[in-house]
Formats: sequence, structure tokens, C-alpha cells
Amino acid sequence: MKKLLAAMMASVLCLALLTGCGGASDEGAEVSAEEETSAGEETNAGEAADAESEAEAADGESTDGSGALDDGVLNVGTNAEFPPFEYVDDNGEPDGFDIALIKAIGEKMGVEVQVENMEFDALVASIGRKIDVAIAGMTITDERQKMVDFSNPYYIAVQYVILPEGSAIASAEDLKGKAIGVQLGTTGDILAEDVEGAEVAQYNKALDAVNDLVNGRLDCVIVDKNPALVFETKFEGKVTAVDGAQFGFETEEYAISLPKGDTELAEKINAALQEMMEDGTFDALVEEYIEGGKG
Ligand code: GLN
Repeated sequence: MKKLLAAMMASVLCLALLTGCGGASDEGAEVSAEEETSAGEETNAGEAADAESEAEAADGESTDGSGALDDGVLNVGTNAEFPPFEYVDDNGEPDGFDIALIKAIGEKMGVEVQVENMEFDALVASIGRKIDVAIAGMTITDERQKMVDFSNPYYIAVQYVILPEGSAIASAEDLKGKAIGVQLGTTGDILAEDVEGAEVAQYNKALDAVNDLVNGRLDCVIVDKNPALVFETKFEGKVTAVDGAQFGFETEEYAISLPKGDTELAEKINAALQEMMEDGTFDALVEEYIEGGKG
């Protein structure tokens, strides 16, 4: 599993760094990922040492000249309704993979991280105003890229279709004309709107959609893979989560959304992310939150 994950992340890095990874074998992919230590312009492995000392120099700085960090605080928006990436913990605080990830990134950057829980649909528009960046299992889309920039991708996902136990829905064709529940403003919402004749019901919380599915008000819910699997466990025996590939849905990449044009902030976040992928911190978080079944 570890190897698979490393290979998966390696291919994300290849994509992010626009390098030509051959991907002939797992080993090959891993080596490529390790060689690419800089998330900035320096993609030459020979310059790795320079990139590392630059990252070290940035450590512990309270200000960096980048507008977003002038106060030494990184204000992060999330929508804590998306387990295991973000959820509200027993103390009422946002927690989850993304929250742990952005806190670790903040630590590497030497800034304090403050997390604000808001509606998913409000995140992109709030960047550069209420919040500096957003982390919310957010998929990179062309539409969003008109308003914000994205960090390098850190996770590959796909939409899943949650069905009531025993449902006959099994293909894209079967979705036509159905009552589909989605979370407002998500990629699942966009996919559902494209289904011919579908009656799309938008919810602020995906969990509310699943509740309506269980109560017989919907035919299915379209939501990202990992939350779908969490909901399947939560409603065990009542619903089944089916891989969206079966419905023709394509894979998506999660990234941190950033203020448009703030390349300095983007480079710092990418460098911290890269460091975490190389030093094992990232894999440890995947194990703790995603494979460990937290949330
Ligand atoms: N990945 C989906 C999107 O970006 C859903 C994210 C979410 O609901 N937090 O639209």
C-alpha cells in the first residue's frame, strides 16, 4: 500500500512539476519524485542543495514580504463537512487530513495557522479577503482558476455515487432523470447538473444529502470518494458507495487554493509540501487520517 501511495504521489509530482516521468516501474517513479526537490523554477536535481538551504532560511521568519503573511498568521478557510479531509472534532474544532497538513505546512513556513470553518461555496470568493488560502479537498478546476491560483496537487480523487442498498442504478445512463443529491458548488454538483433530466438537490452539507437518500427522498448522492466511503461506513447496510469510474467520472486533483498572482506564497507552500512528501510527514498523515479511518 505504501508503495502504491508513493507511486501515486510521484505521479502527482510529475504532473505538478511538468517533468517527463517515465513511470516504467514503481521504483522509477519514486526516484523521480525524490530527485525533484524544488517546487519552484529549480527543477534540476543538481540544484537541490540550493533549494533546501533556501527553504531553511525561510524557516522561523515571522514576515516574508508576501502580503498574505505580513502578520505572521496564515488564515486558512475550510469547510469541515468532508471527512476524513476535514470534520469538526469532539472539541468543536476543525480537524482532519487537510487541517493537519496545512498546520504542518505553516510550521515549516514559520507562521501561525488559524483555521476558519465556512461554507464550501464561499471559500474561493473569500480568498484574499477573509482568508489567505483555502484547504478543503478542493479540486483544481478551470472555473476556479479564473479566480484563484492552486498549489501543486497533493491528492488524486474521483467522484463516487452513493446508492441506497439494492438500487438498480449502475451506469451513467441509469442516472438520467434521477433525483441526485450533491454538496452545493462542488465538482459533484457540476457533474450532476450535466446529467440529462436529473433533478439536482444542492445541500450545504453532503451528510444532509446522504440522510435524505437514506430517507428515500433521493435516488443517489454524488460526492468525492473518501467522504463517500466514510458515509458508507456510517450508514452501514443502508447505502453502497460506487466508484464513479463506472459512471464515466474522471479523476480529480486536490490542491490548496491561493490568492491569484501571489507567487511568493505559492512557492513557499509548494516547497513545504514537497519537503513533507520527501521526509515522510505526508505519508504519515495519509496513514493516520485516510487509511486509519479517522473522521
Ligand atoms: N472535491 C470537490 C470539489 O472541489 C468537493 C470538495 C468538498 O466538498 N469539500 O468541489
